[in-house]
Amino acid sequence: MTLTAEKKREELVCITCPRGCLLTAQETDGGIEISGNFCPRGEEYGKQELTNPVRVMTALMRLQDTEKPVSVKTDRPVPKAKLFECASEIYHTHPKTPVHRGDILIRDLCGTGSNVIATRDS
Ligand code: SF4
Repeated sequence: MTLTAEKKREELVCITCPRGCLLTAQETDGGIEISGNFCPRGEEYGKQELTNPVRVMTALMRLQDTEKPVSVKTDRPVPKAKLFECASEIYHTHPKTPVHRGDILIRDLCGTGSNVIATRDS
């Protein structure tokens, strides 16, 4: 008797563009099959979601010398599995003022290769 591993299957909404196609991502013996996508970007998104989902992070970061936080975002998506760790590093980092829009406030956030950048002036 041979045991076969259960194949992953997920229903997803593609968030790559406003059309919001309903996708089905199905793991198969040959890889991953995506259906429901209107364009190739949906196939790419569905495969990424089934194997290593990622998100761009946005947050508020506390600064030194002022009560007013600055809004920040990552310059590329980070793995969902590392979101909590990344949020903790952002929470515990307090750059000096002034901060200018586009400044890199954390490089290589938690080893993800993503930088945290200011989206506003402080
Ligand atoms: S599959 Fe293509 S058209 Fe549909 S939501 Fe994704 S990017 Fe937009």
